Amino acid sequence: MGLNVFNTLSRSVEPFVPLDPDGKKVGIYCCGPTVHDFAHIGNFRTFVFADVVRRYLTFRGFNVNHVMNITDVEDKIIRRVNESGKSLSEYTNEFEKAFFKDLKTLGCLMPDEQPHATKFIGPIIKLIKKLEKNGIAYSTGDGSVYFSIEKYRKAGNQYGQLLNLNLDEMRPGERVSNDEYEKESVADFALWKSRVPEDGEVFWNSPWGEGRPGWHIECSAMSMELLGPSFDLHLGGEDLVFPHHEDEIAQSEGACMHSNGKKFVKYWMHGAHLLVEGKKMSKSLGNFFTLRDLLAKGFDGREVRYLMISAHYRETFNFTLDNLEGAKTAMSRIDECTAKLHELTLGQTAEPVNDSPLISGFTEAMDNDLNVSAAWAAVFDWVRDTNRKLTSSGLDSAAAATELANWEQINSVLGIKSREAKAPAEILVLAEQRQAARKAKDFARSDQIRDELANQGWIIEDTPNGPRVKRG
Ligand SMILES: [Zn+2]
Repeated sequence: MGLNVFNTLSRSVEPFVPLDPDGKKVGIYCCGPTVHDFAHIGNFRTFVFADVVRRYLTFRGFNVNHVMNITDVEDKIIRRVNESGKSLSEYTNEFEKAFFKDLKTLGCLMPDEQPHATKFIGPIIKLIKKLEKNGIAYSTGDGSVYFSIEKYRKAGNQYGQLLNLNLDEMRPGERVSNDEYEKESVADFALWKSRVPEDGEVFWNSPWGEGRPGWHIECSAMSMELLGPSFDLHLGGEDLVFPHHEDEIAQSEGACMHSNGKKFVKYWMHGAHLLVEGKKMSKSLGNFFTLRDLLAKGFDGREVRYLMISAHYRETFNFTLDNLEGAKTAMSRIDECTAKLHELTLGQTAEPVNDSPLISGFTEAMDNDLNVSAAWAAVFDWVRDTNRKLTSSGLDSAAAATELANWEQINSVLGIKSREAKAPAEILVLAEQRQAARKAKDFARSDQIRDELANQGWIIEDTPNGPRVKRG
C-alpha cells in the first residue's frame, strides 16, 4: 500500500500521487506565520504537522520541496508597527527570529524556502494585473482592487471548492465596513488596498497608486512563483480553509484559467484546532501559551513536539499540562531503551530492516492518512519487546545495532531528538575523577563526587561497558 491522505477538496481519503510524471518530486506550500507577535502553541501544532508530512514524504522516497511563507505585511502587523514606532522590518525581524528559534526547539526541519510577502510585491502586482486582464478584478475610485466572485463564476469557475458555500446567503448589505463601500458585492475581497493614513510608511507603488497587497494574494503569488501554477500539496490550519484558502484557489485559478482541468493544488491537507485545558486558548482564561511559556515551566521542545503529534492531525486536540507530564514519561521510556541499545552496539552500525515489525508497523499506520496513534503503538510495542530482550540478554551487538538503525529510520519522521545530549565538559571531568577515585578505592571521594553530580542534575550509571553519565 502507498500513502493515502485525506484531501479537503474531495472530502475523502485518496492515494497520494504527485503531479511529477516520474512520481518523485513533490511541491508543498504551507501558510506560514504572521510575524506580529510570538506564535502560540496552537499555531505550532500546524507547523509541526507540516514538518511530519514533509518528513514522511521524504521517508517514502519523494523528493520534497517544502515552501513556508512569512507574512510580514498585513493589517495586524501594521497596527503594531505604528504602536511600536519601529519600521516594518525592524518590527517583524524580531518575531521572525523568535519563530524560527521556536521551530528549531520543536525539532522541525527548516523549510527549503521561506519567501517573505514584502519581497514578492512584483509577482503580486503581476498576478493582480492578470486577474484584471481576465476581467475578474476591478479597481475602485480610491485605488483599491477587488476580486469579483460573480465574474469569476461567470467565467466557468467554482467558488467554494473546499467547502460548500451558500453564495445567496452572502448578501450585499451585511458587514460592509467603511473602507470597503465601493465593492460591487460584499463577498468580493481586496487584492490591493489603497494607502490610508493609518498605514504610515507601509506602502508600495503600483499601477493603481500607493498601497499594499491583501493577505490572500500574497500566498497565491508566492506559492505559484516558487512551485508553479499547479502544485501537489497545500497545508494549513483548518481555520484557514475559508476564506483564505478558498480565495487562494479563486485568485490562482482565475489568473491561470487552467483549461486542461488542472487545479491550482492537487491535495489540500488541514490540521485541526488545539484546545488547552479543554478550552479555546485565550489570554483572559490563563490557558494561552507560547512555547517560551512552556519552556519556562521546565518542559522541553521534544516533549511539546511529542504531545502535538500524539493525536491525529484531523482531530481537535486537548493540550494539557498533565499530558505534558505524561510526555516526559513517554520520552524517558524511549531514551532508556535507545541508550541501552547504544551501549550494546559497541560502536557497530547496521542498516535498517524495512520489514521489521517496527518499520513495517509504523509505515502501515502512517500510510493510512498519517495515523499517528497506531504509529506510536508500533513504537511502544517495540520499546516493550526490546526491553524484554535486553533483560534476558537476548541481543548481541549486531542485533542491537540493527534495532537502533530501525528506530533511527522511523525517528527521521517523528523527529524526537535524543536525550543522550552530551554532558558538559565540567561534568565529564567530574565523572572521570570519580572513576579514578574508585580505581584508587577512595570510596568516600567517589561518593562525594557522585553527590556533587547529582546536585547538578546528573546521574552516573555503572554499566558493563564503563560508567555512563545521564540526566537525573
Ligand atoms: Zn496562506
